Amino acid sequence: MHCPACNYDDTKVLDSRLSENENAVRRRRTCLKCKFRFSTLEETEILDLSVIKRDGRREAYSRSKIEGGVLRALEKRPVTKQEFRSLISGIERDIYVLNRPEIKTSEIGEIAMRHLQKVDQVAYIRFASVYRAFTDVSNFREEISKLAPTRRQKSSRLKKKKIALSRRRGRATKKR
Ligand SMILES: [Zn+2]
Repeated sequence: MHCPACNYDDTKVLDSRLSENENAVRRRRTCLKCKFRFSTLEETEILDLSVIKRDGRREAYSRSKIEGGVLRALEKRPVTKQEFRSLISGIERDIYVLNRPEIKTSEIGEIAMRHLQKVDQVAYIRFASVYRAFTDVSNFREEISKLAPTRRQKSSRLKKKKIALSRRRGRATKKR
């Protein structure tokens, strides 16, 4: 690792810790020559994985393609940057553990859906409609009926609960 200040090629790692993106490690370093301190972010990357597309063509695995698909599904949804990062990390972890040289687009789609369902059900439905190529409303109805209504409340975070609670209170006071 070259020092960004003096370009000396020997730097010392002071500490390492996992970054907000669970598939990345942040290291604090110091230059052994000029003592400049800086940090690096090392991200893991899936190598040597081919994705088999629907038409049978193969292409190299690309994180940005998954990110693009998931981002489109999450448009205007209340999901934080950190939640998005850990969502992508989770999807990639599931791909890693398969430890295969090839994976079908549809398999990646199923993995992504499994993770999206836990984070945001609207985004999940949007994603599913693209990946499972919904052709009519009955596909939507079928998919939505699979979602347990209580699940949303169970998985919602404290903040959301508070908002829901205050809304309910607001309604109650109006009645009185
Ligand atoms: Zn230096």
